[in-house]
Amino acid sequence: MDPKLKQELVDIVGEENFSDALIDLVSSSWDASEHTGQRPDCTVWPTSTEQVSRIMALANRLEVPVTPRGAGTGICGSAVPLRGGIVLDLSRMNRILEIDISDRVVRVQAGVVYADLQKALAPHGFCFPPDPGSSLVCTIGGNVSTNAGGLRGAKYGTTRDYVLGLEVVLADGRVMHPGGKNMKTSSGLDLVRLFVGAEGALGVVTEVILKVSPIPRASATLMGLFDDMEDAAQAVSQVMSSGVIPSVMELLGRELLAAINADTGLGLPEVDAMLLVETDGYTQGEADFQAQRIIEIFRENRARAIETADSAEKAADLWTARKSAYPVLARLDKNVVVEDVTVPVSKLPDLVRGFSELVKRYDLKVGTLAHAGDGNFHPLIAFDADDPDQLRRVEKAVDELFELAIELGGTLTGEHGIGLSKAKYMPLEHEPVELEMMAVVKHAFDPKGILNPGKQGLPRPPA
Ligand SMILES: Cc1cc2nc3c(=O)[nH]c(=O)nc-3n(C[C@H](O)[C@H](O)[C@H](O)COP(=O)(O)OP(=O)(O)OC[C@H]3O[C@@H](n4cnc5c(N)ncnc54)[C@H](O)[C@@H]3O)c2cc1C
Repeated sequence: MDPKLKQELVDIVGEENFSDALIDLVSSSWDASEHTGQRPDCTVWPTSTEQVSRIMALANRLEVPVTPRGAGTGICGSAVPLRGGIVLDLSRMNRILEIDISDRVVRVQAGVVYADLQKALAPHGFCFPPDPGSSLVCTIGGNVSTNAGGLRGAKYGTTRDYVLGLEVVLADGRVMHPGGKNMKTSSGLDLVRLFVGAEGALGVVTEVILKVSPIPRASATLMGLFDDMEDAAQAVSQVMSSGVIPSVMELLGRELLAAINADTGLGLPEVDAMLLVETDGYTQGEADFQAQRIIEIFRENRARAIETADSAEKAADLWTARKSAYPVLARLDKNVVVEDVTVPVSKLPDLVRGFSELVKRYDLKVGTLAHAGDGNFHPLIAFDADDPDQLRRVEKAVDELFELAIELGGTLTGEHGIGLSKAKYMPLEHEPVELEMMAVVKHAFDPKGILNPGKQGLPRPPA
């Protein structure tokens, strides 16, 4: 890399927070997806907002691309540098700055790991609910920038619902603080929300103020076993319109159950579909009442069997098994894609039916998983990318899955983001005028196009 740029970066972050060693450049080139880009020139680990500001001012002056990075657990290539340059890794800005229970908020640096925040909040009886499957490693800055969701979305929403304020470093190095600790505000354009899900393309998030929620005092866990996945999807739709809202309702397909069994020895029943459900409330009676209503609905929809977790250990085992879904399915073949389409929950049976037709038509090896309560469908397709026929079949199936989801009134992504994987599909979901407005916003925040270029299908700046 240019020795002058290297020296200026070292002057900002110190030798210990700069690397152009091959091992760091290679690991900064990947996220958890199959995407590759252009190896960066260097990785820097700033330790303060002031350092981030000086790095951005420098990069903007020299027009060097900058890719912000949290833990690199994204699964759509959003943290993969596409045009080299600087990878700005926020993981050393990992301090919890304030836990303010009297105002029901926390203030954290962007590199704080989700699980560390949960651990710090637990003694206060509070939590940050989204709970992504990658919670042990992903960062709050990454959660904000992808609008991460997770198992609790149907009842507790996604990251967007909890972000009250931000500290953001803009492309030219200026620092701004939209929002604050207020539970409500009607003051001006909502710049906070603009950065939620922006995938680092509008600015670098350095601090986040989050609303926190009380940890539910009581819960009940149950599983419904179905011989037909469409029946399970129909049951989900009926539960969600019945007046009770489970805190979690996960759908697991047969191949996934088999893969979990092979990995854990839990001996889960290998049926066509399992619905794993948690209800919660202030009292056990409240949680049990909701669970009972769900059991009735499962029976009406031909559940072969329904089992309740009779101990906290059994419930914990089930949730640990569920969280191992991606890693165990990733072993099915050399390559995997995880999709993330989401439809209104009443359309889930149509989506499930359409997907199983695609599986047959293109002879796919899949594992099926869904945050079913909010219509978020996560099929994982395993394949060998060195086999051109398999690759072609997978690509056709993915194209058709996106078309189907949009036809059903759905969205390309419920929580993983657009990144590189779905950039080309953006016109399927968004009108030309929406795409034009997104490009205008990108240009306003980053006129030189240096921030995470090439993501979300956002165009390059005009020449
Ligand atoms: C096993 C597994 C399970 C998963 N389960 C879920 C799930 O249940 N729900 C879910 O939503 N996702 C899930 N994911 C995807 C991923 O973990 C989330 O998208 C997570 O929010 C990414 O956080 P990260 O810190 O790893 O961000 P990264 O992957 O490093 O970055 C993601 C994007 O955010 C940008 N970014 C990161 N930090 C900043 C910052 N401080 N400022 C500006 N931009 C920034 C990056 O440029 C990139 O565009 C899963 C991934 C894996 C591997």
